[in-house]
Amino acid sequence: MSTTTAQDWILGFADRTEASEPRLTAYDQAAGDGDFGANITGAVKLVRTALAGLPAQAPAADVLSATAGVFLDRVGGTSGPLFGLLFQALAASSGTELTAAALAEGTAEGLAAIQRVGEAEVGDKTLVDALSPAADALRALGPDASPGDAFEVAAEAAQRGALSTEDIRARRGRASYVGDHAVGVPDPGAVTIALLFGAPAVD
Ligand code: ADP
Ligand code: MG
Ligand code: MG
Repeated sequence: MSTTTAQDWILGFADRTEASEPRLTAYDQAAGDGDFGANITGAVKLVRTALAGLPAQAPAADVLSATAGVFLDRVGGTSGPLFGLLFQALAASSGTELTAAALAEGTAEGLAAIQRVGEAEVGDKTLVDALSPAADALRALGPDASPGDAFEVAAEAAQRGALSTEDIRARRGRASYVGDHAVGVPDPGAVTIALLFGAPAVD
């Protein structure tokens, strides 16, 4: 995976998200208002169109910036702007190529931006529960790793974090309104962060 481009990465994320739409919808139906799957698949569909308008060899920063623009300007729900902040930070840390160092820096900065806005901590049953361990794993890997290694450790950490949301009550977002009703259901935002870093789709 050392030749993964930002286009490949984001289009792979779109594939995994679309394949996972039924379960993402089911999780948000159980714990929130049920629109998460539609919000995120609507977003990645718009992202596909935006990326198709870029040159084939567009710099990673441009691909991630176009992705951020879709999430920030055109996607509803709480998740749209929060994913937008992550992609915006990834774009800001990136240059021409997708590198492990840029992924580490962008993920850490994106997490910080999301926490400034949403004020969630690890354990609140939000996407922060997957993004924070991914940021830690990327930081621990060091800047000389290949992008393939970076995705592997980040996906593993994010997946573990996403699964950890299953057994806890939500303290942020709509899922916090339903108390114990959301216990047993993972947070769809956290699951989607795992998909972003390359965790396999499950429908
Ligand atoms: P809405 O709740 O407005 O319908 P979505 O369904 O699009 O929004 O997104 C819900 C997701 O947003 C949750 O699964 C959770 O991961 C994330 N989320 C909600 N509130 C916060 C927050 N304060 N900080 C971080 N993530 C949050
Ligand atoms: Mg929702
Ligand atoms: Mg909603």
